[in-house]
Amino acid sequence: MQAAGSPGDQEIGQDYYEKLGVTKIINAAGTYTILTASIMPPSVQAAVARAAKNPVRLLELQAKAGEYIARKLQCEAAMVTSGASGALTLGTAACIDVMNDAPVEVVPMQVASMKNEVIIQKAHRYSYDHAIENCGAHLVEVETVADYEQAFSPKTAMAHFFNAAEGGQIGREDWVRIAHRYKIPCFNDAAADVPPISNLWNYTRMGFDLVTFSGGKGIRGPQNAGLLLGKRDLIAAAAATNNPFDEGIGRGLKVAKEQIIGMVAAVDWFLEQSDDGMQAEFLKRAESIAADLRAVPTIQSRILVPEIANHVPHLFITYDQQAVRISPLQVAAELRKGTPSIELNPSTGRREGSKGIQSDENTIVVGVWMLQPGEEKIVGRRLHEVLSKATQT
Ligand SMILES: *Cc1c(COP(=O)(O)O)cnc(C)c1O
Repeated sequence: MQAAGSPGDQEIGQDYYEKLGVTKIINAAGTYTILTASIMPPSVQAAVARAAKNPVRLLELQAKAGEYIARKLQCEAAMVTSGASGALTLGTAACIDVMNDAPVEVVPMQVASMKNEVIIQKAHRYSYDHAIENCGAHLVEVETVADYEQAFSPKTAMAHFFNAAEGGQIGREDWVRIAHRYKIPCFNDAAADVPPISNLWNYTRMGFDLVTFSGGKGIRGPQNAGLLLGKRDLIAAAAATNNPFDEGIGRGLKVAKEQIIGMVAAVDWFLEQSDDGMQAEFLKRAESIAADLRAVPTIQSRILVPEIANHVPHLFITYDQQAVRISPLQVAAELRKGTPSIELNPSTGRREGSKGIQSDENTIVVGVWMLQPGEEKIVGRRLHEVLSKATQT
């Protein structure tokens, strides 16, 4: 079954998913990389297809795309990267190169004896540490402000902040202010932290020297693209270590012309949206699914908005498993097996789920923001079928 309203309906080109036997899914989860994150809006898909028709000079495209994005997002400079993870690597390499006044080739093999320390709060350690450590950087953990002040050394190259971290004693503004007192550049990883749209300029304005956003999450650009925003000298250094140049760590972090243009078009699309409009649409979808489940015995639904990352309405469903004899994990498996195949939010039936999504063994979580128009009806119907079937009568 074709996902309702998907822009590819009467489209040019072969359906290679079909040809390969790849299952198309309904994404009731969210912007998860493993589920190919977001669907580009039609205007972005069209821009990508059109960009594919002409060769251009890559350096000119990179430079002009960066200038355009910097202007739109009110920062000094910007570049399109191969995702937020790629931006972490390029940005860290840039800090190391600039702080050591060293050529791009030093990263990662020669930096052990140079400024290569990156200060980070212990509570901000995360799976993307690798993207930083790829540069030969050494992470130095701090907890208190006093620790932080003491951590600055002749080896310090960067201070790193994980914007959606749930712990950490030191707030953004203090983090930046103190780093700058020691003349150290400060990076904020805000990959998953739009909406609100204004976050695209909030953190650079706050003084962060580098900020990254994933392109394939809330901005709905190409999945293999992202944004690195920040200070002119650091973005220039990041560009120097990026492809097409062969000497830097970014050679493998290639972004093709189609995706560079797609990222620019996605920024345009995203800036045309409004926070209220998006929230209202997501709320409507969540309410529609909740309404479809009203007749299921003991059902309770709540709509909650996570604080920072995934900051959009999510639907949380609980019920008495004595009356409805199926666990949330079994419900997720049933929806996955069905036609069309539906993916619920991975926090379904789990205590440790995604950032800011408080779930447990007894909760179904529906992420509605990546649904395509009309798909909430299918999700509501399938959830109703599966839960009703499990109801003792
Ligand atoms: C998703 C994410 C990334 C990686 O983003 P990509 O664009 O997939 O590379 C990095 N950091 C955080 C906090 C994220 O949520």
